[in-house]
Amino acid sequence: MNNTSETDRNTTASELTLHDEFKSIAPAINVAEGEITIIAGPCSAESRAQTIRTATELARQGIKIFRAGLWKPRTRPGCFEGCGTIGLEWLAEVKERTGMLTATEIACPSHAELALKAGVDILWIGARTTTNPFAVQEIAQALSGIDIPMMVKNPANPDLDLWIGALQRLRNAGVKRLSAIHRGFSSYGTRLHRNPPQWRIPIELHRRIPSLQLICDPSHIGGKRQLIAPLSQQAIDLGFNGLIIESHCTPDTALSDSSQQITPQRLHEILQSLTLRQQDTLNADLTSLRQQIDQLDSELLEILAKRMNVALEIGRLKKSHNLPVLQPQRYEALMKSRVEEAAALGLDRDFTSSILAALHAESVNRQLNL
Ligand code: PEP
Ligand code: MN
Repeated sequence: MNNTSETDRNTTASELTLHDEFKSIAPAINVAEGEITIIAGPCSAESRAQTIRTATELARQGIKIFRAGLWKPRTRPGCFEGCGTIGLEWLAEVKERTGMLTATEIACPSHAELALKAGVDILWIGARTTTNPFAVQEIAQALSGIDIPMMVKNPANPDLDLWIGALQRLRNAGVKRLSAIHRGFSSYGTRLHRNPPQWRIPIELHRRIPSLQLICDPSHIGGKRQLIAPLSQQAIDLGFNGLIIESHCTPDTALSDSSQQITPQRLHEILQSLTLRQQDTLNADLTSLRQQIDQLDSELLEILAKRMNVALEIGRLKKSHNLPVLQPQRYEALMKSRVEEAAALGLDRDFTSSILAALHAESVNRQLNL
């Protein structure tokens, strides 16, 4: 993870403030305990017909929040850069016909103003925009004093502070409903995922701001249809509150992100196949196992302290008889027999050796200091 050092150096203080800062922030989307929210729709609104058809099919599958990009920040010029303002009319029609909430990406204040005027229900800041604090700050100012649910995608680069910074800029401007979307991080070269998930980054975000709603975007992480189901399940297992999934009425002809879009029917099948976590049972099981770990750790520490005291006794004896502290044969024999004993208990030999080496080094140190 890049650039976390600034925050890490000051972890406790900054974490406390972050907790406080976000205490009053509500999630962008209401999700009942133990459930997950689904946002679905095409990468881009391409035409009125494609938008309405996709939305109608999704509504039929029970989807309640419709996404569609109107202004598309593409990595390379020449790609489809979105339908622009005209798409706002299509989104309004989707809302009227299906009753779904609508969501779109904004990248500058004018997008924000246009989308708000057109009655779009939820806005998000895309990965390429989150990387730029100037752009985020301008959007935050444009939203100042307006109660609109906002979602912030992680920056394309794996920089947790930049992600948190964008969330803070919106919060400081008075945005009251705020969530984060994890869409994976750019990386160079061939790899399984289009944007590898680097789960430890959203997990760390959750640790720093536990009250923040986290939504996962398996479409942009995976970049391939077949990765959407496993990534969605992973996100659920990690405790994400929702999924944003790209769905298109005819994915093969999509003008952007064709290879990662799925039909509303396929989306339905995937959602059916996912297992929601049994939060209550999981929590109870975890608590009980953690209690066992706590107890075992205490016993281990007590035994370590006792062992160190015996080592000191030995040290005193050696000193009074002018014996050397280090006795290599004894050390060799001890290592060998302990590693065998540990292996018989199912413990890894290297793991045991490294623990014994650390123990021995500390004993020798203490004996030398007598
Ligand atoms: C999108 O949601 O279509 C999009 C452009 O995503 P990202 O900002 O995550 O690349
Ligand atoms: Mn897309």
